[in-house]
Amino acid sequence: MAEGTRILLIGPPGAGKGTQALELSSAFSIPAISTGDIFRENVRNATPLGLQAKSFMDAGNNVPDSLTNDLITDRLASPDCVGGFLLDGYPRTTDQVRHLDDFLADHHTKLDVVVQLVAEPDIVVERLRKRAVDQGRTDDDEAVVRHRLDVYAEQTAPLIDVYSARGLVAAIDGIGDISEVTQRITDALHARGITP
Ligand code: ADP
Repeated sequence: MAEGTRILLIGPPGAGKGTQALELSSAFSIPAISTGDIFRENVRNATPLGLQAKSFMDAGNNVPDSLTNDLITDRLASPDCVGGFLLDGYPRTTDQVRHLDDFLADHHTKLDVVVQLVAEPDIVVERLRKRAVDQGRTDDDEAVVRHRLDVYAEQTAPLIDVYSARGLVAAIDGIGDISEVTQRITDALHARGITP
């Protein structure tokens, strides 16, 4: 498991990770793996994992690391991840960083880049207000959104320092048209010698 590109996307809720994940996934021909999407699908299908995750998600809290780490181990062990992958929404805690580090070491591979999508809280709250109307996500209620931003600041934002210390972080302004942001990411990756 050495060839291919391995990308993490990190940023607050509403920064546009899901949208950019799809753009990068198609540009690099790698699967975009969103732990949030996988959890939501499990909730929809009322699987045992979904039933365990639902209350945490509805409250805007992280699902426990043990459940999340098991899920990602399974997903990354799938054949379509051998040639690289993009992770959207994982890792979200330092425990998840350790788990991912171990997985990558066990598979003799490593991350190429961590794309940090930067967006101000006021802007993401407004974006998520619109998404609540469009998609009806139960965790897009305004009070829950504010809590998710706090959880991000407390548990996930510190990961930026961890990956910065490894020289892996490309910080990208997430405000602008979708194609504009995609271009910024593509340029930043190119500058690091990361091309499809
Ligand atoms: P957003 O980044 O916009 O908050 P996501 O779709 O990434 O949305 O996540 C939605 C919810 O799914 C989170 O609030 C959390 O409850 C759960 N979740 C997603 N990824 C993780 C993760 N890596 N660890 C723990 N919980 C997660």
